[in-house]
Amino acid sequence: VTVIGIHAGAGPRSPKLRDHYDECHDALVRALAAGRELLERGADAVDAVTLAVTVMEDFELFNAGRGAALCTDGCVQLSASLMRGADRAAGAVAGVSRTKNPILAAAAVLASPQVLLIGDHADAFADRHGAEQVSPDYFVTERQLRNLRAATTDVSTGTVGAVALDAYGVLAAATSTGGIIGQPPGRVGDSPVIGAGTWADRHAAVSCTGDGELFIRSAVARTIAFRAEQGTTLADATRLSLEDVESLGGTGGVIACDAHGALSLPYTTEAMPRGVWRAGAEPQVWVTEAM
Ligand code: ASP
Repeated sequence: VTVIGIHAGAGPRSPKLRDHYDECHDALVRALAAGRELLERGADAVDAVTLAVTVMEDFELFNAGRGAALCTDGCVQLSASLMRGADRAAGAVAGVSRTKNPILAAAAVLASPQVLLIGDHADAFADRHGAEQVSPDYFVTERQLRNLRAATTDVSTGTVGAVALDAYGVLAAATSTGGIIGQPPGRVGDSPVIGAGTWADRHAAVSCTGDGELFIRSAVARTIAFRAEQGTTLADATRLSLEDVESLGGTGGVIACDAHGALSLPYTTEAMPRGVWRAGAEPQVWVTEAM
């Protein structure tokens, strides 16, 4: 089986999602189609989740890449991570502000001996490995400046992620975010933390979204895969981890895929834009609607 699942952040059924339903729907369809096309051509799961995430990073209504949430000082600090299940190779970046697609910086790190690079050095590393660089202004949109001034929660969510199982049985997971609107500069959430926001091994691939600090403190992504390895169904494993986050006072969502191609996409917020495609079936996308 070949499968890909994507998400664009757990959060409220916000005016952003309602007023821009069609654009968000279209962005999810395009991200899913990009990943699917690669998988159908025999590409591996790492490339499929990476490409799907770049499409969502480029869409400015999601909180990743252009249009990401701003820190209190009006600057962007982007984070992304990527992991391959077969050998647990992992790459992540935090606090980047020049790499157009932070997930490509994470991909460059995955191919290196390191796992996590931060700040300007991460951008410079990505640049040396061919990832396009832009001015930090590129990421800043009028909408996000308004949100920061108004301290609204309109686009505080919208982190993006993808999980996939390829034709060779390899699982992969990817996550990219601007963090939380009005976060203090230097704050890093769960998204680039391997084992918290992102994880892939031979049993499961997981990408998370939600209250990052509590996802770190619950080691959500790794715990889901561990439970799956111990024989818990994926649906139960994801539910138990979201309950753990809830017990600390947080909400969010996860997308997870196991080695048999089972997918689980639960969330404890009002909405989580998401989509799934499975070989031989039609792609499915949800923006504000429940499953
Ligand atoms: N988990 C992300 C963070 O804490 C935010 C989100 O998913 O909305 O940075």
